[in-house]
Amino acid sequence: MRRPLMAGNWKMNLDRRGAVELAQAVRRHAEHASKVDVALFPPFVYLDEVAKVLAGSPVALGAQNMCDEPSGAFTGEISAAMLRDVGCRLVLLGHSERRHVYGEGDALVARKLRAALAAGLDPVLCVGETLTERDANRTEEVVRRQTLAGLEGLEPRDMSRVTIAYEPVWAIGTGRNATARQAGEVHTFLRGVLAGRFDDGVAQTTRILYGGSVKPDNIRELMAAPGVDGALVGGAALKAASFNSIIDA
Ligand code: PEP
Repeated sequence: MRRPLMAGNWKMNLDRRGAVELAQAVRRHAEHASKVDVALFPPFVYLDEVAKVLAGSPVALGAQNMCDEPSGAFTGEISAAMLRDVGCRLVLLGHSERRHVYGEGDALVARKLRAALAAGLDPVLCVGETLTERDANRTEEVVRRQTLAGLEGLEPRDMSRVTIAYEPVWAIGTGRNATARQAGEVHTFLRGVLAGRFDDGVAQTTRILYGGSVKPDNIRELMAAPGVDGALVGGAALKAASFNSIIDA
């Protein structure tokens, strides 16, 4: 049975006080939400502070990105071990803003994913097509390629620590979410990709989140789509009231 996960990606938003207050409000709420897992992905500089707020709570802490190298002369980068050191359990990898704004390719994302696993962080691999790719009927080709490349070199047993997030690029931060039908189609397709690459067991147990303009008023419909195991939420995770009502859905 796959337990739903509601994950809040704060991106480059909030200040120290706002981060602490939001984490406190989510913690209070999540302590009564026994049916879902909850995770928060604050900016790097607030991880330490938010970790203190979340200590001993059911809310997991994650980072939005990491370096593929373990240590050394990589100015401006943050390693998986550093993230573990400040209390992270999870890390987002291959988010569309990393791929499309900062040019991260499949090979780099795959190296990061292996480095995360080696350091004891559980990766959330983000995949998704652009509008041009969807319009050209290339959605399946793109998400298959990103998924297989990201999971390169993994054994079936590694997959118990991996979450996949299907995030159509055209739906992220645009207010235009995928329909439940569109999300369900891609989630079902991705389970087929996992079955082919690993086995049916992996396909049925891997958590696949949907992300892209998730809000309190569309979460129920999206969660009802086949194979949707939760949501990766950006804008609507920046206010306790909206993220908490997504948790309740
Ligand atoms: C995201 O950051 O992964 C995301 C889906 O953002 P939004 O919910 O704002 O579309």
